[in-house]
Amino acid sequence: MKKILFVTSEVYPLIKTGGLADVSNGLPKALASLGQEVRLVLPNYHGLKLANRPELVSLLRVDGHTVQLLETMLPGSNVVIWLVDCPKFFDVEGNPYVDVFGNSYKDNAERFALFCRVAIEIAMNRAQLDWKADIVHCNDWQTGLIPALLSLEYQCPATVFTVHNMAYQGIFSGLTAAMLHLPGQLLSVHGLEFHGMISFLKGGIAYADKITTVSPTYAQDIQTPALGYGLEGLLVYRSDDLMGIINGIDGEWNPETDPLIAQNYTANSLQTKSVNKTALQTRLNLPVDGSVLLLSLISRLVEQKGIDMLLDCLPELLLLPVQIVILGSGDKIFEQRLFELAAAYPHKMALTLGYNETLAHQIEAGADVFLMPSRFEPCGLNQMYSQRYGTLPIVRHTGGLADTVVDTLPETMANHTATGFVFNDAHAGTLLEAVKRATLLHSFPEVWQQLQTNAMSRDFSWQNSAEQYLALYESIE
Ligand code: ADP
Repeated sequence: MKKILFVTSEVYPLIKTGGLADVSNGLPKALASLGQEVRLVLPNYHGLKLANRPELVSLLRVDGHTVQLLETMLPGSNVVIWLVDCPKFFDVEGNPYVDVFGNSYKDNAERFALFCRVAIEIAMNRAQLDWKADIVHCNDWQTGLIPALLSLEYQCPATVFTVHNMAYQGIFSGLTAAMLHLPGQLLSVHGLEFHGMISFLKGGIAYADKITTVSPTYAQDIQTPALGYGLEGLLVYRSDDLMGIINGIDGEWNPETDPLIAQNYTANSLQTKSVNKTALQTRLNLPVDGSVLLLSLISRLVEQKGIDMLLDCLPELLLLPVQIVILGSGDKIFEQRLFELAAAYPHKMALTLGYNETLAHQIEAGADVFLMPSRFEPCGLNQMYSQRYGTLPIVRHTGGLADTVVDTLPETMANHTATGFVFNDAHAGTLLEAVKRATLLHSFPEVWQQLQTNAMSRDFSWQNSAEQYLALYESIE
């Protein structure tokens, strides 16, 4: 049995801005059910969704700050969460990284440096919790200083650093670095230094015993200049310690039991999925039509997700016998262009701006096709949810999308492995081409149903991923 300290800046259902929150819920739970002792560390943000008042378990002085450690449980599990309570840094309005106006907090470096230092006190059993970690599993730049600082400790636990998205690096000026009181030996070009600045992400990659990313293809992608963000050389250098493990998906994304959808269904009762299509069309004021191909997209509306590609082909796409539902929020320019198109095509397009977990479930259940034209995608969750809901994904061949969706080709149809539609080039034209392929196949109900059955039989369980992480932990001690 391993004692694993899982350090994360967000965890569902307490707080979520993206896929990291889902991983931070699913992986610790799955590791616990494999018999491991997992504890989470999370900042005590303003507005955490907590069922009960957390219990005060420790009081620390760290780097000149007074910090309380509060204890709560990850809902539906026996996983303990330690909340790092430092109101000056975390009891502020806004999400974990940006203020209510969408600007990064000015003190992000100090906020997450303190978070890292507290996690180290816990890991090293210096937080009066009578618990020492065997493994510290760090996630994304917010935790990048942990492997770096731990490397200076005597008898430190082993470290795993998972990159969920290379696009977010935690780069700060040299001046900020000085404010963080980091030991000089960490600041060299082999350490945190990055073009005269410091990079938290680089700290994780340079110093962790093992580095993982969230899909095997993304582990390759980030070793190239296109997706390595200047760290590709270091990643190639560390490639023997770098691997990709696909995320699992949470049990609550299951059409058989999902309480948020109009009609539960399985691969054996696929015809009843249409009840969800009708409910979705009704809810979103689209004409109720069972035969039209209902396309969907749930996403942060940012360039990474290929929203510009979709916008470029939408006017032509809407000439096809399709409807499209979009749920998302993000860049104002994308929101505005989508809004204008939705207003121009009210019978074909329904746009919901904002974040809505319930509607996300209803879209997965009600749509025929899910679009994910990402320029890059470390793992991606929605293409896996979609397959479990028999909603065929159309994805670009990149990162985790390439690893989890099998394109519909004569041979993959024949051997029943096809689960969606994959296109290569990041162009509106190739995306449109893939939509046309889907539209054509949708007119053959038996073929479509076979594809749905193939998709729904895929195993995207957390157990599968957790076993791979456990094997990795065992390889480093
Ligand atoms: P990323 O972490 O890059 O945003 P992922 O596909 O890995 O992308 O995870 C996104 C998660 O956030 C999924 O669970 C997705 O359903 C959810 N999501 C994104 N935007 C919205 C939204 N507007 N409303 C509800 N859920 C959303």
